[in-house]
Amino acid sequence: MKVETWTPAPWGPDGESLDPVDWDGFARAAHDAVDRAILRTRNLRDRPVWRPLPDTARVALRQPLPQEPSPLTAVLDETWDHVMDHPMGNTHPRFWMWYMGASSLTGALADFLAAVDGSNLGGGAHAAAEVERQVIDWLKEIVGFPSSASGTLTSGGSAANLIGLVVARNRSAGIDLREAGIVALPRPLRFYASDQVHGCHQKAVEIMGLGNRALRRIQTGEDCRLDPVALAEAIAEDRAAGWQPACVIATAGTVNSGAIDPLPAIADLCAQQGLWLHVDGCIGALARLSPGHRHLLVGIERADSLALDPHKSLHVPFEAGCALVRDPVAHLGSFALHSEYLDPAARGIAAGGWLFDYGLQTSRGFRALKVWMMLKEHGAARFGRIIGRNIDQAHRLAARIDSKPRMTRLDPVTLDIVCFRYDPGGLGPEALAELNIEIMMRLQEAGIAAFSDTTLHGQHWLRAAICNHRTTDADLDMAIAALIAIGDQLSGLGEAESRAQWRTTPAR
Ligand SMILES: *Cc1c(COP(=O)(O)O)cnc(C)c1O
Repeated sequence: MKVETWTPAPWGPDGESLDPVDWDGFARAAHDAVDRAILRTRNLRDRPVWRPLPDTARVALRQPLPQEPSPLTAVLDETWDHVMDHPMGNTHPRFWMWYMGASSLTGALADFLAAVDGSNLGGGAHAAAEVERQVIDWLKEIVGFPSSASGTLTSGGSAANLIGLVVARNRSAGIDLREAGIVALPRPLRFYASDQVHGCHQKAVEIMGLGNRALRRIQTGEDCRLDPVALAEAIAEDRAAGWQPACVIATAGTVNSGAIDPLPAIADLCAQQGLWLHVDGCIGALARLSPGHRHLLVGIERADSLALDPHKSLHVPFEAGCALVRDPVAHLGSFALHSEYLDPAARGIAAGGWLFDYGLQTSRGFRALKVWMMLKEHGAARFGRIIGRNIDQAHRLAARIDSKPRMTRLDPVTLDIVCFRYDPGGLGPEALAELNIEIMMRLQEAGIAAFSDTTLHGQHWLRAAICNHRTTDADLDMAIAALIAIGDQLSGLGEAESRAQWRTTPAR
């Protein structure tokens, strides 16, 4: 690669800037960092999934504010030694802890180039804004939204859900809520979701000033899905009690178990009741890319607003979420604001139209580039295959668990999440939870595999969220074997004893 060799005069009192003085030296340091990053990613599987942050790193990372400069190479060395060597672990093939993406080198490169481009995606006439419009159009196409819908890239799913719920609130209020505020509401608004709804929706109704009580959770049964009959009853009951039902939040892929609410029936009910349908598709929406699984998402295209999360199953580096709204007038009606210092212009840089009119932020990062570059490089079909493979892996993991003694799991498995536990028998619920938490922590501390845990309908489970483009079946087999071995060891089942039990316990 040809590197610019022009070197400015050394910084003088007037010339100091943040650009390199030694451009060639900067190029060498930068290339070296790229080489190390590639090598690190290439050898990820050989690293522990995670290891505890050592005190040396903790001390090195808590230093007084630097007043004087340091050479970039020294700063990079520190970064490698103390930061890059102790990541969370979600890039590792055996990280299935929370539902998040595993990142990617192309996404990292895109973040670098987006920063070099430096554009503010608040809007304006520049290519970056067109890239975001393009990405939004592609995401609409993926989820089956009409091209007339509007959308915006956000920091993540939480922000995307908040945007959808704000539009839902303002549209349902029957007053100019932006002007008059919630104090002017004739009746309190009510939102509905299943008891499996993600916590960001509670934060959203709290932030919107409606309060947590405005979000009515409908109790789920064994399938962990929102029951349309119970929902209809709750709506009728609330109407009679003086609430104003406003919006149903359906989840396409719950965080606990990956359950998908019955979207067509809920969409019918919303249409009949005149309620806004918001779908939280942070986990499931992009599974529409997988030909073998898209039927699970039928009905998602009927949402009035939808949140999805490219930094999960598209594996773009954090942060990138997306809010889509079917009616762009409603969307702009909630967020557009014309400030005299940001008047749109007929020509020039301010002529491009504002993207900040679709959300909360004024200055916005160029997060679209990583989504754009990754979709271009890999193509939508490859993402579909990887998402499909993760879901198939979850089903194979479930079958494997079913074939093992001392292992039980939650049924059904819908997407790429499996809840399970090690159960040697004879333990009460608390001791059983304690044992499983100990197993989970030992697997993490040994750097073998990262599972998380959750409590669902009062039962404690370990949980595998297999949203990982690097995971192989062998990774999952290895982790489950290690998990059982640790469980056996902790519950005092010796090698021989555990082998004997193996023979006598029928497969479930
Ligand atoms: C991850 C997730 C969210 C929150 O998204 P962030 O990107 O973490 O802000 C919301 N809902 C569901 C169902 C999720 O899985």
